[in-house]
Amino acid sequence: MRDYAAFRPIMTGTTPPASLISRDRAAVWHPYASVTEAAPLFSVDSADGVYLNLSDGRRLIDGMSSWWAAIHGYNHPLLNAAAQAQLGKMSHVMFGGLTHEPAVQLCETLLAIAPGQMDKVFLSDSGSVAVEVAIKMALQFQANNGQPGRSKLMALRGGYHGDTFAAMSVCDPVTGMHHLFKQVLAPQIFADRPAARFGEAATAGELAALDSLFETHQHELAAVIVEPLIQGAGGMWFYSAAYLSHLRALCDSHGVLLIFDEIATAFGRCGDLFAANIAAVTPDILCVGKALTGGYLSLAATITSKPVAEVICGGEAGALMHGPTFMANPLACAIANASLELLLNSDWRSNIGRLERGLRAGLAPAAQLPQVADVRVMGAIGVIELHEPVNMAEIQPQFVERGVWVRPFGKLVYSMPPYIMNDSELSALCAAIVDTVTGT
Ligand code: PLP
Repeated sequence: MRDYAAFRPIMTGTTPPASLISRDRAAVWHPYASVTEAAPLFSVDSADGVYLNLSDGRRLIDGMSSWWAAIHGYNHPLLNAAAQAQLGKMSHVMFGGLTHEPAVQLCETLLAIAPGQMDKVFLSDSGSVAVEVAIKMALQFQANNGQPGRSKLMALRGGYHGDTFAAMSVCDPVTGMHHLFKQVLAPQIFADRPAARFGEAATAGELAALDSLFETHQHELAAVIVEPLIQGAGGMWFYSAAYLSHLRALCDSHGVLLIFDEIATAFGRCGDLFAANIAAVTPDILCVGKALTGGYLSLAATITSKPVAEVICGGEAGALMHGPTFMANPLACAIANASLELLLNSDWRSNIGRLERGLRAGLAPAAQLPQVADVRVMGAIGVIELHEPVNMAEIQPQFVERGVWVRPFGKLVYSMPPYIMNDSELSALCAAIVDTVTGT
C-alpha cells in the first residue's frame, strides 16, 4: 500500500514557500524546458490588476498578459463574479447532445463581431486545437467538394500556429521544430515571410512569388493559413495588408480556403477587434483563443461561414469529425462572455491607441542602441529586435530585478501589456525594458 499520508503536507500546501522552486524542479516540466538544465524560475503567489505578486514579496508589472491572454489584468472582479456564478450552476457538462446558455451566448457574440459573414462556431480547448480544427475543416471541405487531392496547406515562413502536429506542420519550417519531427509532420508549402512592413505596399516580387506558388500547387492546395498582419511567436513581424488582399484574390480564383489564425491578434490587441478588419480582408475560417476568456481559462474557437460548414457536413462523414471532451466548457464560456462584455462595453479602440502611443514613446530610446536592429509597435504590442539572441538565463532575472515581467525569445524582447495598464505603469515597464536591453 502506498503511504498517502506522506503527501498530505504537499497537498494541503503546508510546506514552506521557500521550497516551492526545489519541489518544482523535482516534479514539474515547464514549456520548452529541460529537466536536466535548470532555467531561472520565479514563484508567483497571486496576481491582481497588472501586477504579479511573487512569493518573496516582490510585485512585478506584467508586460506579457500571460502570453497575450490576460487583457483585463488579473483577479478582475467582474470575471471573478462570472466564474463564481457559473460554478454555482455547473462547471462542466459534455457538449454532445447537450447545450447551455454560456456556449450559445458566446457563439452568438463571436458571430456578431467576427469579420465578414460568419455563421458557425466550433469551440475547443486551446489555440493549437482550434488550428487543428481549421485544418480539418479545410480538408473535409475540399474532399466533399470532389477535390480529395487538395490535401496540403500553404503557410508563411516566420509563422507560428501551435505545437500539435498539424499546427506544427504549418509553423516556420526552420524555427518550427520540423527537422525534429520530420518523419511524422505532413509536408506543407511555404511562402516567404512578407518583406513589406505594415503600412507599406507589398512588393511586386513577393506578390509574383505568391502567384507562382499558387500556379505550381493549385491542384494540391486545400487552404492557406496565416496570422494576418502580425506574425507572433514566430518573429513578431508586422507586414503589409496588401499581401493579404492579394492572397484573398488568389484563394478565390483557385478554389482555396483562406484561414486567419487570430489567436494572438484578436480582441483589440492589434488596434482593432481583428487584424482582418484592419486589412479589410475576410477569411473563410477564423481561429481565436488566448484573450477569449481574458486569460482565465483555456478556450478557443474556429469560426466559419454557412456555405463552408454545409459542404463539410455534406460528405461521407456527414459531420465535422472532431469533438473534444471539454468542448464548450460552461465555466470557460461564462468567463469569455463576461470578458467580451467588458471589452465591448469599453472604449477599447482609444485605449489601445493610448497603449500604442505609450509603447512607441517608451521603447523609442532603444532604437539608438548599437545592439538593437529594430523597434516596432502596432496596437498594444511593442517589439525590440536585437542583432543577437538574448541570453535568457541572464536577462530574465534582470527584468525581475527591475520590477517587470518580460519574457523574450531569440532576438526579440517584446511586450503586450494588459489593456488596463495605466500610463505611469506603462512608462515604468518600457523604461525597465530599455534599461535591461541597454545592459545586454
Ligand atoms: N496560433 C497563434 C498565432 C499563437 O500565437 C498560438 C500561441 O502562441 C497558437 C496558435 C497556439 O495556441 P495555444 O498555445 O493556446 O495552443
